[in-house]
Amino acid sequence: MTYPAIREFFGSKLSWAAGTGLIVVLAACLAWLIWQIQATDASIPNFRDRFESARVTEARWDNEVLSIQLGIAPNYDSVTEAARNMKVRIAELAQEAQRHASLVSLSPSVDEYRRAIEHKAWLSEQVKASYAMLRNAVSVLPNAISDSYEAPEVLRVLSNSNKRTADLITEAITSMVSFTISPTPLLHNAIQEKNAALRAAMKTMPPVLSRTIERFLVQIEVVIAERQRGNELMLQITSVPTDAAAERIQTELISLERTSGDRLQRLWGISLFLAALLVITFISFVFSLRRRFMKLNNDNRMLVQANQDVEEQLVQHAKLSALGQMVAGITHEINTPLAYVKAVFELIKERLLPEPENEMHGDVEEDLSEEARREMRDELETLLNDGLHGLEEMATLVRTMKNFSRLDKGHIEDFSVEEGIESAILIARPQLKYVADVTREFDGVPKIVGSPSQLRQVILNLIVNAVDAMAALDRRGMLTIRTRLTSLDTVQIDVCDNGPGIPEDVLGRIFDPFFTTKPVGEGTGMGLSICYRIIENHGGTITVTSKVGRGTVFTITLPRQDEKTSVLPQRIDPLVAA
Ligand code: ADP
Repeated sequence: MTYPAIREFFGSKLSWAAGTGLIVVLAACLAWLIWQIQATDASIPNFRDRFESARVTEARWDNEVLSIQLGIAPNYDSVTEAARNMKVRIAELAQEAQRHASLVSLSPSVDEYRRAIEHKAWLSEQVKASYAMLRNAVSVLPNAISDSYEAPEVLRVLSNSNKRTADLITEAITSMVSFTISPTPLLHNAIQEKNAALRAAMKTMPPVLSRTIERFLVQIEVVIAERQRGNELMLQITSVPTDAAAERIQTELISLERTSGDRLQRLWGISLFLAALLVITFISFVFSLRRRFMKLNNDNRMLVQANQDVEEQLVQHAKLSALGQMVAGITHEINTPLAYVKAVFELIKERLLPEPENEMHGDVEEDLSEEARREMRDELETLLNDGLHGLEEMATLVRTMKNFSRLDKGHIEDFSVEEGIESAILIARPQLKYVADVTREFDGVPKIVGSPSQLRQVILNLIVNAVDAMAALDRRGMLTIRTRLTSLDTVQIDVCDNGPGIPEDVLGRIFDPFFTTKPVGEGTGMGLSICYRIIENHGGTITVTSKVGRGTVFTITLPRQDEKTSVLPQRIDPLVAA
């Protein structure tokens, strides 16, 4: 590899890797940013929703507390329920704040709010207990009153106040009811006075009534005390600083929302920038790929062309080398008719131009009788015919050789298979005649369409291989060439020899390029692989069956197409798949 080639190699690899890496990094950054945007997006609004829902629950709770305070609530259960709801909400809020990194700063305020809510809930429970005691005392009061009315002294006028005990009981109840409705200090004093008056009157009462009145007064005092305690607890509840804590959360939340909004805007900006960068990188990457692909395509086309040229040369070379091997034999073949023609011409010359010593005897023609002249003409005619025949033989040989060595580049035309076989036998005759006899079993098959020079080359190759194989025998071989038209409308050619056959382990490789079992310099190993490709390009098949010691049969089938229906291209490139 030269230096520029190395640089080009690494340059292309690096830019490829850098391009892919950049796209991956950009895509990963973009995905991370989008994830960040979504995470930010969801956590803060979710927290706000929960916070607002908690505030609404708290407001409901306050309403319930107010209803109790005003005495319009049927019981205290709604307050307990609201407190429980509120505790659930605040726990969710605290959890949400801890779960998301973006909300962690809210945690202290949320904890403060939770503590306040828990204190408020504890106070609510206290109110509930006080309310229960109050109700209990109120429920006992009617019995205490009816018990005191059982004593007849209850209707007796008391000497010190000019009132009946029953009147004092009524006044105490009235004051208690007023205080329960509005627990003011004034009403508290009033009730104390009424109770004191009753207590004073108790001294003059019979013991049974005085005990009953005492029970009544104890219940009244419980009602008053619990009503007062409840009122104080209510005041404490309303003074629990939940609003201040909530206010702090609200402020921090607004600031968080603002920061998050700014951050979101920044994130969106960066994301858009990255997306644009990604698109630009991707487009330039695709363009560079396309450029590279086009270059590759171009190189590929050039390589295919170069390959075709090399293969064409290879076929031609194989053909010429096969011919080369036969040149010696062919020269000998031409020599025989040539010597014959030469002898004929010498005889003719002798007849027509007699030697000078013969001329002394006068004009031959003149001396010849009519009959002798006729004989001479007949003899000359025979000699000339023989000479012409010899010339014809030489012309056929030369023509056949010319056909074989033609660089016709696979032109498609009508081809007579049997004539092709004959010319191949003729070319191979110099080697063939010493090795084997030839049997032709021709079926008179119709012409096919194909490249005559290529098909002749295939047949010659098979004959030469058969001759080479049979030359190894110690007996004279037999080459049988058969043609027939099959039921599938294909022309079949069998080239059979009774040579040594092909061993099993060799049989599967004989069509491989450069596979040969012949000594170096004798075999190229290209013959059968070229035959295979040529037949394949003609839409046909070539197969082999062989038995060691019995011989080999190569079978070619070719589709029988006339020129009109031919689907073959106008030209078949050797070795290039059709
Ligand atoms: P090459 O003739 O140059 O060796 P081929 O591709 O024509 O190349 O033949 C490959 C091999 O197939 C030959 O070397 C030979 O071993 C075997 N082969 C071909 N034809 C025959 C045959 N008729 N009988 C025995 N072996 C054959």
